[in-house]
Amino acid sequence: MRTDTGHVFKLTDYKPTDFVVERIDLTFELDPKATMVVSRVILHRREGVGTDVPLVLDGDELTLDSLLIDGMEIDASLYDATPDSLTIRDLPESAPFEITVTTTLSPETNTKLMGLYRTNGVYCTQCESEGFRRITYFYDRPDVLAVYTVTIIASKDETKQLLSNGNFLGGGNYDEGRHFAAWFDPHPKPSYLFALVGGDLGLVEDTFTTMSGREVALKIYVEHGKEPRAAYAMDALKRSMKWDEEMFGREYDLDIFQIVAVSDFNMGAMENKGLNVFNDKYVLADPETATDADYANIEAIIAHEYFHNWTGNRITCRDWFQLCLKEGLTVYRDHAFSADQRSAPVKRIAEIRLLKAHQFPEDAGPLAHPVRPETYREINNFYTATVYEKGSEVVRMIRTILGADAFRKGMDLYFERHDGDAATIEDFIACFAEASGRDLKQFALWYSQAGTPSVSVSSEWNDTKKTFKVTLEQSLAPTPGQSRKALMHIPLAYGLILPDGSEFEGQPTGGEASGGVIHLTKRKQTFTFSDVPGRPVVSINRGFSAPVNIAMEQSPEDLAHISRHESDGVARWQALNDYATRHLVAASRLARDGRNLMPAGDLADVLIATAKDETLEPAFRAQALALPAESDIAREIGSNIDPDAIHTAREAVLAEVARAGQDVFTTLAASAAKGAYSPDATAAGQRALAGVSMSYASIAEAAADRAKAAFDAADNMTVLAQALQVLAHQFPGADETQDALESFKSRYAENPLVLDKWYSTQAMAPGSSTCDRVEELLASPDFDHTNPNRVRALIGAFTAGNPTGFNRADGAGYRLLARQVVEIDGRNPQLAARLLTAMRSWRSLEPGRQEQARLALLSIRDAGKLSADVSDIVERMLAA
Ligand SMILES: [Zn+2]
Repeated sequence: MRTDTGHVFKLTDYKPTDFVVERIDLTFELDPKATMVVSRVILHRREGVGTDVPLVLDGDELTLDSLLIDGMEIDASLYDATPDSLTIRDLPESAPFEITVTTTLSPETNTKLMGLYRTNGVYCTQCESEGFRRITYFYDRPDVLAVYTVTIIASKDETKQLLSNGNFLGGGNYDEGRHFAAWFDPHPKPSYLFALVGGDLGLVEDTFTTMSGREVALKIYVEHGKEPRAAYAMDALKRSMKWDEEMFGREYDLDIFQIVAVSDFNMGAMENKGLNVFNDKYVLADPETATDADYANIEAIIAHEYFHNWTGNRITCRDWFQLCLKEGLTVYRDHAFSADQRSAPVKRIAEIRLLKAHQFPEDAGPLAHPVRPETYREINNFYTATVYEKGSEVVRMIRTILGADAFRKGMDLYFERHDGDAATIEDFIACFAEASGRDLKQFALWYSQAGTPSVSVSSEWNDTKKTFKVTLEQSLAPTPGQSRKALMHIPLAYGLILPDGSEFEGQPTGGEASGGVIHLTKRKQTFTFSDVPGRPVVSINRGFSAPVNIAMEQSPEDLAHISRHESDGVARWQALNDYATRHLVAASRLARDGRNLMPAGDLADVLIATAKDETLEPAFRAQALALPAESDIAREIGSNIDPDAIHTAREAVLAEVARAGQDVFTTLAASAAKGAYSPDATAAGQRALAGVSMSYASIAEAAADRAKAAFDAADNMTVLAQALQVLAHQFPGADETQDALESFKSRYAENPLVLDKWYSTQAMAPGSSTCDRVEELLASPDFDHTNPNRVRALIGAFTAGNPTGFNRADGAGYRLLARQVVEIDGRNPQLAARLLTAMRSWRSLEPGRQEQARLALLSIRDAGKLSADVSDIVERMLAA
């Protein structure tokens, strides 16, 4: 384990390497316990670097078998090899030289799933961010780009496919019972994009003809027998390739594009050049085993990894501080793709929900960091919602500020100017500034300032003068390491909705405003609209144009006016969601104080009206009917949080809406699409509306039989999983629920991905007894503690998706997580650290729970030898 050294890496310390890598040739002789790796690297000393400066290469848990310089052994006094580094002295002044490094690895015992490991008989690598140094000593950093040639030798019987990046050079018999394959990747790349796969896998093949007419072979490798379940992923890949050509002018650049699906994987997927490695969860789907959400995730992640070929691979990051350069931008691109493939407003609503659920709490807690961090102790802990999701929002704001045309020009310039580079955020922003002629200096603060800005909005209507004034004031609370903040450039899309429901078109004075966007650049600005025919209602931050918190006193009548007349579907949902949130926050406070809740009559009326409004698409209606989650309500309350009170209040509102709209929900519950299953967005939207309606109808009836009947009749996983969830969450003690859980488990005993749903559904059942159930499941012999998907399905779902169960008042949930984190840290530090982030909002809890959470965190801190990953998270969470 790489234990914590406490070393802090700083952005300002960046310095290029002393030696320049020209090319690298790797040879692997695969063996489960003793894989031999021979790495031949040609380097030269960088100009201006003194001859006394040694070559220092990175390692992690490595043992050097042998070292040659230009094919010769050198005196042992000229180098030092430790598990973490290889230092070689006395190297040539300027001439290129070759080092040959031999190391031996044990893929079978590599439980960290970083570097080269073996899963279900398949050899596989994961090198981002610092896994390559677990394979051989190298400059394992993203600004060292080299051309790779890879030769793989392995047993013919066990390891039929031998895959690596780039184009296939050749292969054949090697020696007794072994064969080999050689690959050449002509595109210089950093080591984190290196990949190797060896295994006996099933293959799905297709081709894609690029816009310049080149034919690319497409190959998806999965476990034997699972080939039919890769068809949707292949379809999504072809659509992604076409879309990137049409929208960004980006063409694929190798003869072959390969995807391998493996079952033990720490991340979702990895964009290794020409050879993406995927968690099989994001490749395999058929109607019987995958839900609509699974299909949508597969489409998005296949696209995301493919899009990295340009944003990440052709143009990579100079250092890991620039991670958002590839991730934020690529998330932006995959969002735009999904919006085009599906309903754009529904997609945007889902993005806003995700951002608020995951990124806003991060920004408000002890783990807050800028989109581009300036320091880190463990880079693995920065694959966060802030870097990915907020990073994407920042790119989206650039587009909002510049407009579609200038944005595209800026992207074109970026691709043209930086192809083949390891670039920075400054390089990226400069392209947009240059393409548009706009100064983006103040805007660039979005990359360096952590925290979610707040904008308070007030308005004033003058009926005599017919003027309407909107005053905006921005603020940004301190975050760890940043006590003082500068003023931001916040682009706020808006609309003024007149009493008759039409929109006021006039432009305001008082600051920059154009194309329906107000640019807030000062602390406080007043925008004045003149000649307004009647008192308008302002709809601000339309479409969530900026990731900020808006504080605005708006009457329920005004919010209802917006939700009725807003032409923008997202803004309409925002108004409805604000309305519901406000009610739920007030009700939660009453519940916490033990007082009677106020009726939700008006809110229920609006929701039911939306449910039956046939002019709205079903997916939108489903989103509107899904009340803000308990975690959303907690976030709005902000401090002294009592998760039980929030649950009580929310359940009461659900019950009231359910009873008031029982007829509507009963009809809609029966309206699911008939005929053969199709994963398209329209059919998925119909199932979503039917599913949420079934949940409301069951609540109104206070009986499990409707959900049980749906479970028994289900002919696809979406409906089956919806029904199981209603049973397990609404009727935990019912016989129907026990029957359904047992039948589900036995039916899918042989399908780990589906069985994961069985674990998550139970882990997310609200209430204090779930903690005991999770302990029971953890202790059962069929629980696979080494599979990250399974661990996340149970522990991750419980801690991140079950506010009442995890935050049990006696602290049992926190203690469970603490024990698991320490145990998992021993084999898989990345997974352990990720699970621990579920406690990031602990300081906003009421005092009793806060104390229990603190004790659990201390128990981790004092548990002894911790990895750098877990130690970093626990220290930051405990820091005052
Ligand atoms: Zn990515």
